[in-house]
Amino acid sequence: MAPSPFIIVAIDGGAASGKSSSSRTLSERFNLLHVDTGSFYRAVTAELLRRGAPATDLAAVKTVLADLKLGTRLNGRSAMMEIGGRVVPDAEIRSLDVNTWVATYSAIPEVRAALLDYQRGQANTARQHGFRGLVMEGRDIGSKIFPDADLRFFLFADPNERARRRQQQGFQDQVAKRDTIDSQRLNESLRGATVIDSTFLTLEQVVEQMAAAVAAKLGEAPAHR
Ligand code: C5P
Repeated sequence: MAPSPFIIVAIDGGAASGKSSSSRTLSERFNLLHVDTGSFYRAVTAELLRRGAPATDLAAVKTVLADLKLGTRLNGRSAMMEIGGRVVPDAEIRSLDVNTWVATYSAIPEVRAALLDYQRGQANTARQHGFRGLVMEGRDIGSKIFPDADLRFFLFADPNERARRRQQQGFQDQVAKRDTIDSQRLNESLRGATVIDSTFLTLEQVVEQMAAAVAAKLGEAPAHR
């Protein structure tokens, strides 16, 4: 029997478009490493804020970036970023401060460059730990990080619906403002991707569409649930 292929699934989309829920579900169902690159940008933002490097002071930002000492810790099937051996707690990376600043820091080319190889290296982490592949979510996964990904999805959802979802999750977040700052990256990752509009779909319906494609790539018969 041919060995099962190692697959890379890219999921891009705006804030609160359903990327995290769907990629987590795919990760569990197919034993893929789940990589939330938004959490990486959030952790680095928390570190830049903690070390007092404003987004307007590129020299200060570069000093912090040069000293990040990035590592990866697994939490179940999810990859968590370590900075200097510490995983930045969820409460910190989802804080109002980080929500406010993350898109601004993420637009700095040096910040993106500092995370490029780290993100690509997650494929090795997945292989080393015996995963069947990885599902990576973000804004530029299908365009910049893994343009040759086996599957490239773009999740779309109406901005009002996304704001409602965030509120329901108990977070204060300016999804529309972040999307404006992220818009160029979002447009690039949209090109050539399979677009799913999740506005009127349940999480289950979104996942079923993706799961059928993943199963086909892995050479499995589609599961009927
Ligand atoms: O996915 P999440 O909404 O948590 O991402 C937080 C922010 O991180 C985004 O608004 C975006 O500015 C930035 N980001 C990015 N590129 C990625 C993932 C996230 O610029 N691949």
